[in-house]
Amino acid sequence: MDAADMGNDLEKVLISEDDLQARIKELAGRIDEDYEGKEVLLVGVLKGAVMVMADLARALHVPVQMDWMAVSSYGAGTKSSGVVRVLKDLDTDILDRHVLIVEDIIDSGLTLHWLLENLKSRNPASLEICAALRKPDAVKVPIEVKYVGFDIPSEFVIGYGLDYAERYRNLPFIGTLAPHVYT
Ligand code: 5GP
Ligand code: MG
Ligand code: MG
Repeated sequence: MDAADMGNDLEKVLISEDDLQARIKELAGRIDEDYEGKEVLLVGVLKGAVMVMADLARALHVPVQMDWMAVSSYGAGTKSSGVVRVLKDLDTDILDRHVLIVEDIIDSGLTLHWLLENLKSRNPASLEICAALRKPDAVKVPIEVKYVGFDIPSEFVIGYGLDYAERYRNLPFIGTLAPHVYT
């Protein structure tokens, strides 16, 4: 899928495919340095993280394994409530493993905060976060995100794994939707 397939549903491209790919490679370089001599367990959060996971994993040189979790926030509305339900747990025992959570975007940070506490209780050797995108509200939650792709404004974005009503995940860039799509 590309911009042309979106007709007038696309408002603007916020981060181009080239910029995304270049930034993921930079992050991979830092991760390779930080984890030299170790094996990393990448934990992707479904479904939004599939694209960043696929690109990051392929850009890394340290040995990696990949596992996935699916979580959902309880409560109505579009804001996450911080109360999280596990839809799919890890297949892997993370005890003494070097775990790197791979996320699409951090907005309120509530989902990630819950996930961190949950994974910490399983006693991994280390636990860090890599997020493709971060919004300004994330500063309200005291989480240290070691690897961030881009800080973006508080706008609803789509593409590169991120959906609107399950669509647009397969766009190779990050964009915003024209208002008529929502109404
Ligand atoms: P948080 O708990 O940090 O508020 O919510 C994080 C989750 O909400 C993300 O993993 C993502 O699934 C969803 N989300 C947050 N902001 C956006 C956005 O701008 N666009 C889309 N498509 N999903 C978002
Ligand atoms: Mg997510
Ligand atoms: Mg979504």
